Amino acid sequence: MSENLQTTDVAIIGAGPVGLFAVFECGMLKMRCHVIDSLAVIGGQCAALYPEKPIYDIPAYPRIDAGELVDRLSEQAAPFEPVYHLDQQVTALSREPNGRWHVTTSRGTVVEATAVIIAAGCGAFGPNRPPLAGIEDYEGISVHYLVQRREAFRDKRIVIAGGGDSAVDWALSLAEVAAKIYVVHRRPKFRAAPESADQLHRLAEGEKLELVIPYQLASLEGANGKLTAVTVADLEGNRKDLPADALLPFFGLSMNLGPIADWGLNLDHHHITVDPASSETNAKGIFAIGDIATYPGKLKLILSGFSEAAMAAHAIRALVYPDEELHWEYSTTKGLPQAAGG
Ligand SMILES: Cc1cc2nc3c(=O)[nH]c(=O)nc-3n(C[C@H](O)[C@H](O)[C@H](O)COP(=O)(O)OP(=O)(O)OC[C@H]3O[C@@H](n4cnc5c(N)ncnc54)[C@H](O)[C@@H]3O)c2cc1C
Repeated sequence: MSENLQTTDVAIIGAGPVGLFAVFECGMLKMRCHVIDSLAVIGGQCAALYPEKPIYDIPAYPRIDAGELVDRLSEQAAPFEPVYHLDQQVTALSREPNGRWHVTTSRGTVVEATAVIIAAGCGAFGPNRPPLAGIEDYEGISVHYLVQRREAFRDKRIVIAGGGDSAVDWALSLAEVAAKIYVVHRRPKFRAAPESADQLHRLAEGEKLELVIPYQLASLEGANGKLTAVTVADLEGNRKDLPADALLPFFGLSMNLGPIADWGLNLDHHHITVDPASSETNAKGIFAIGDIATYPGKLKLILSGFSEAAMAAHAIRALVYPDEELHWEYSTTKGLPQAAGG
C-alpha cells in the first residue's frame, strides 16, 4: 500500500470557487473532503486570473472582488477541516476492487474516497512560458505568471509581455503603483478590449508607461533569481535592454484537461456530461460540477456551480451513508454539524 495513501469520504479535484463550496455542502451532510489542485493557491480562475476584479453576480454580494470571494468560501469551508493537496496535478483515477476510488497526484499522493467530485474548471492551470533560457531560475522571484497582490509591485520596474486582456489590464492597474512599466508586444494591435487598449495608448503618452512594439522577449539578465534587465529583439534582430525588477509574461494560462480526458467519462467538447439532477457522470461515484460540467441549458457561472455542488453532495451522501435516510433540514435549523469520518 502507498505510504501516501489518505482516506476520506469525498475527493474533490479542483480548488476553484465551486470545489471550495462543495467542501461546505459535503460538510453540511457530514462528509469529509480532500481537495487537490495543480495551482499552489486555492481559488481557481478567481485567484489565478482576476483576484482584484469585482464580481457583480454573486447572490447577496452586490460587488465582491474575486480574491475576497475565495477568502469567504475558504472561511465557509474551514469548519469542515478540508485537507488541501496543492501544487500537484491529479494524474490518475482508478476504481479499487472494494468499490472505492483512488485519486493519484503528480506528487505521489493517493486519496481514497467513496466518491470523487471533479471541479476542474477548464483543466489544470499552468502558465504558457516564453522560451527564454534559464527562466525557471527567476520564476516566483522576479518572473510571475499571475499577480496576486498589486502592492508587491510598488515602485518596481516591470516588463509586461503580451497583447491580450491580462497584459493590458495589469499594465493599466500596475501603472498606479509601479515606478515604470514597459509593455512588450510583437504587433501594434492589442487583442484586449478596445477601451482598455485606448487607455493604454493614452497612458503611453506620459513617462510612466512605455510601449515596446514590435518586439519580443529575447533573454533575461540578472543573478540568483533577481532580474536586472530584460532584453527584447525586433524581427530584424535589433536588440535593446529594458532595465527591470520584474517580468510578467501574459501569454495565457494553458488549461489542460490532461488525464481527465482519459478516464472514460462521457465528454462533449472538452466538458464532462452529467445528469443535471445529481451532477453524476456516466461513472458511478464520479461527479462533475462547475465549469467542467455540461448538460442542456448549462450556464457557466459561479452561481450555477454552487447549485451543482449542493446537488452532487446530496447524491453522494446516499453513497457514503447508504443505510441512513436523510431528514431534510435547513441550515438555519441544524446549524453547522460536526464533520464525520476520516
Ligand atoms: C476574467 C474573468 C471574469 C469572470 N467573471 C465572472 C463573473 O463575473 N461571474 C461569474 O459567475 N463567473 C465569472 N467568471 C467565470 C468563473 O471564474 C468560473 O465560472 C469559475 O471560476 C468556475 O469555477 P470552477 O471551480 O468550476 O473552476 P475553476 O475556477 O476553473 O477552478 C478549477 C481548478 O481545478 C484545477 N484543476 C483542473 N484539473 C486539475 C487536475 N487534473 N489536477 C489538479 N487540479 C486541477 C485548476 O488548476 C483550477 O484551479 C469569470 C472568469 C474570468 C476568466
